[in-house]
Amino acid sequence: MPTRDQDLIDYEAIVIGAGVCGIYQIKKLVDLGIRATVLEAAPDLGGTWYNNRYPGCRFDSESYTYGYSFSRELLDKWHWRERFSSQPENLKYLNFVADMFALRRHMQFDCRVEAAHYDEAANLWRLGLSDGRTLTARFVVLGTGLLSIPTLPRLAGMDLFKGQSFHTFHWPHEGVELAGKRVAVIGTGATAIQVIAEIADKVGELTVFQRRPNWAAPLNNSLISEAEMADIRRRYDEIFATCARTPGGFEHEPDRRGFWEVSREERVKLWDELYDKPGFGIWLANFREIFMDEAANAEFSEYMADRIRRRIKDPVTAEKLIPRDHGFGVQRVPLETYYYEAYNRPNVRLVDIAETPLQGITATGIRTSTADYDFDIIVYATGFDAITGAYDHIDIRGTGGESLREKWKDGPSTFLGMLVAGFPNLLLPSGPQSGSASTNYPRAIEIGVNWCTDLLQYMAAHGHDRVEATPAAEERWTRHVTDMYGMMLMRKAKSWFTGYNSNVPGHEAGRIRYFVYNGGTPKFVATIGKVAASGYEGVVFDAPGVIGRSGPGGSRSDKTSHRTADLQVRS
Ligand code: NAP
Repeated sequence: MPTRDQDLIDYEAIVIGAGVCGIYQIKKLVDLGIRATVLEAAPDLGGTWYNNRYPGCRFDSESYTYGYSFSRELLDKWHWRERFSSQPENLKYLNFVADMFALRRHMQFDCRVEAAHYDEAANLWRLGLSDGRTLTARFVVLGTGLLSIPTLPRLAGMDLFKGQSFHTFHWPHEGVELAGKRVAVIGTGATAIQVIAEIADKVGELTVFQRRPNWAAPLNNSLISEAEMADIRRRYDEIFATCARTPGGFEHEPDRRGFWEVSREERVKLWDELYDKPGFGIWLANFREIFMDEAANAEFSEYMADRIRRRIKDPVTAEKLIPRDHGFGVQRVPLETYYYEAYNRPNVRLVDIAETPLQGITATGIRTSTADYDFDIIVYATGFDAITGAYDHIDIRGTGGESLREKWKDGPSTFLGMLVAGFPNLLLPSGPQSGSASTNYPRAIEIGVNWCTDLLQYMAAHGHDRVEATPAAEERWTRHVTDMYGMMLMRKAKSWFTGYNSNVPGHEAGRIRYFVYNGGTPKFVATIGKVAASGYEGVVFDAPGVIGRSGPGGSRSDKTSHRTADLQVRS
């Protein structure tokens, strides 16, 4: 029976974001009988897979390792049509999940959370929404995504262009007429590589503006027949068990032989095999030394450079497409389908803007330091304010009005990537420094959501209604994440893994901001499991003197009399 105070609070938990994370989180909360809702800025659910509608958008993870694992019924019902499923199908899948578990009724769309302020006296969060409402909740769960804030270049004249222009994240949902059009793509990251390969034979002319090339490798996609899907269904337990024991949360297991212990011939034999295999094997089933040992990385990068040369007819273009500033795999590897072959087409040209920098956008196109180019369409495939961007875009304030954006301005600090000192009852199932960013996202999401939900259950069982990380635990975790970068060559790369984005003030330098947990899935799971098993060492519950405002040592009765709600968890 609800207490009088409980009537004053809108929800026990509010989940922000109805993407892969938010969908699973609301399922868990609803199953426990927790009064919860999801607030989503977009008009519908799906997150990444709702927003990104650009041609070629598809998984780089094997579809059957990307889907949720929590329901056997769901696994049995859903048929993945392709090994690497495309955006429309992925969105269909997420809708299928939401409908199957009747989750849509717990979601509110078109409401962007602009502010989330912790009210210390009442121990609740007040959320200010774009539609003018204020909602209160005991707990806030952030499922806002790692790559959900698109960033545009800061170029003069961008508003002058008379044709169509948009970021890939905002590719018009009604589609774009490409036939016969002169199209520019700015950027050569994973997104651009998918778009370029897909539209090269559909447009009139395609001009790619490349600042730095990326190491891309073949996706090797294929259809999944009924018989293959039946086999996958039989093997689901085994597949998820493999994902759980690999560092990246994929089916691809690192080759555990020492790079220098096998002959050059054996190394090349492995690479030849991996190059023709589907997915991230070329990256993640490779020798582990390529991530840490400069010489091993250089040898493998040269192998990949040769692969690029073999696929491109014009040697000058080929050399331009080979990265020089970083080795293979130290940035997120884009997977491609005939990307390199696109440059063999007569209607495709590459403009090296490292040589001739962009100077601005004109009414008719793009100006570089040496030429003007006319276009009908400009596509900005210029990436995201990654990992912390979505948090920075909400005015999140914890105890004493401390701003999360301010706290993280030189890089995030968290406990396990899921809790933040000074921000009670704020849960980040896939936060910075958690296992998510560097691994197969949904696998990590399930791990994070389960851990956060277990924490809520623990609190309910122990009569707690306030939780936060201790500053000491946060400092320890952040140092641990930081130290791991020391071993990885990725620390030297300018990529979103290290907080680099030339379009976001403060992120241009590409200095390491310790965004990502690099210890791999098994270690992450073991560590967070140990914390839970210890009764949540590193975490404080119901901090004395805060809830009751009775000063240190405030009595339990002080606290309870000031509670507005106890978490109601159905047993
Ligand atoms: P990205 O990897 O950050 O690439 C952005 C590209 O735009 C880079 O080539 C960058 O050049 C260029 N760029 C940015 N600002 C520029 C400017 N002002 N002038 C000129 N060039 C500029 O972004 P993304 O391609 O959208 O990919 C981000 C992440 O999304 C990926 O790493 C991946 O994790 C995820 N993603 C996943 C999939 C999938 O699962 N299938 C598909 C697409 C993306 P510089 O390199 O010189 O900065």
